[in-house]
Amino acid sequence: MKAFVMKKIGETGWVEKPVPKCSPMGALLKPIALAPCTSDVHTVWEGAVGERTDLTLGHEGVGEIIEVGPLVKDFKPGDKVIVPAITPDWNSLEAQAGFSMHSGGMLGGWKFSNIADGLFSEVFHVNDADGNLALLPEGVDPAAATMLSDMVPTGFHASELADVKYGDTVCVIGIGPVGLMAVAGAVLRGASHVFAVGTRPNCVQVAKEYGATDIISYKEGSIDSQVLKKTGGKGVDKVLIAGGNCDTFAEAVRMLKPGGAIGNVNYLGEGEYIKIPRAAWGVGMGHKKIVGGLMPGGRLRMEKLVSLLVTGRLDTSKLITHRLQGLESIEAALMLMKDKPRDLIKPIVLL
Ligand code: NDP
Ligand code: ZN
Repeated sequence: MKAFVMKKIGETGWVEKPVPKCSPMGALLKPIALAPCTSDVHTVWEGAVGERTDLTLGHEGVGEIIEVGPLVKDFKPGDKVIVPAITPDWNSLEAQAGFSMHSGGMLGGWKFSNIADGLFSEVFHVNDADGNLALLPEGVDPAAATMLSDMVPTGFHASELADVKYGDTVCVIGIGPVGLMAVAGAVLRGASHVFAVGTRPNCVQVAKEYGATDIISYKEGSIDSQVLKKTGGKGVDKVLIAGGNCDTFAEAVRMLKPGGAIGNVNYLGEGEYIKIPRAAWGVGMGHKKIVGGLMPGGRLRMEKLVSLLVTGRLDTSKLITHRLQGLESIEAALMLMKDKPRDLIKPIVLL
C-alpha cells in the first residue's frame, strides 16, 4: 500500500509499505477524511522529536473500519469512526494516574506520526480500538469531525490547563486552528473578554465569530504591552498559548494577574530554554502558574466533543479553508501547513 512518510528530518515522500497486521485489541481502517497538522511540520522540518526513518505521517482523521482484532467488543467492520490524535494505552499506570497522554512515558500516548505509523496511507492501524475510537454520529460531516482528532481537544485543553472560569479575562496567543479552538473553548467555559493574538485575516474573522472581543497583532509591538494598555494596566486572569515561540512565555507572564495561570498547548519546535521574567513573576512569589500539556485523547473525549457538534454548540467547519480530494493530495495539504498562505486556516483531504 501507498504511505506518505517522513523519510528523514527535512524530507517527505511516498513509499510502498505492507498492509499492517491487526493487533488483538486494535483495528485496521481506511481513511475517509484526513488533515495535516502544524505538528507534522515541526516533526519533519524542525526535527523537533528527533530523527525518524520512513515514518508514516498524520494523526487527524475519520475512517472506516475494515478489520478488528479478536478482543475488540464495541466496533465492527463498516463502522465510521473518529480517530483521536492521541491513542493512549488505557491500562497503563500513567493513565490510572490521570495522565493517559503520557501512558508508557512522557508523550507516550502520542503514537501516530511520532512512535508509530500515522494515518496518511491507504490502510492504518489503531491501537486499543475500544478505548480510542468513537462512532461518527449520523449526519455529522466527516470533514468537520476530523477537527475533533486534534484541533478541538488541543485548543480546549488550553482552557483546562489554565482552568478558565466564568467571567475570566483571557488572552489567547495564536489563532491558527488550535488557537481558534482555544478561543471557542474559553468562551464555552464562560470567559468574558477574550484578547486574540494573530494576523491572518481569515483567522481574525473566525476568531471574532468564535467570541474574541479584541484582536491584537504581535507584529505591532509586544503582546503584553498591548494587553496591559487595553486592561488599564491590570492584565488578564488567564493566558492560553497556541502560537509563538519560547519567548512568548515572558510576554504571557508579564500580562498575567497575580494568581493567574498560563495554559500552553503550543509545540515548541525550536530553542533550548524558556525564560521567565523574574520581576514580572513576582520575584518568585506571584502565584502565576505555568502549565503545558499534550491533549487528552481516547474514546470518551471524542464522544463528548462530537456531542458538541451534534447539538450545534460548536461549528468546526469554519476552520476548513481548503478542501482537496484523493490520498495523493495529502502532500499538497501538508505543504500548505508548512507554507501557511495568508488565507489558510486548515486544509482537509477527502477520500
Ligand atoms: P498556526 O501556525 O496555524 O498558528 C499559529 C498562530 O500563532 C498564528 O495565529 C500566528 O499568527 C501566531 N503567531 C506566530 N508567531 C507568533 C508570535 N511571535 N507571537 C504570537 N503569535 C504568533 O498553528 P496551529 O494552530 O495549527 O498550531 C498551533 C500549535 O499547536 C503548533 O505549535 C502545533 O504544533 C501545536 N499543537 C499542539 C498539540 C498539543 O496536543 N499540545 C496538538 C496539535 C498542535 P499569524 O496569524 O500571523 O500567522
Ligand atoms: Zn497535531
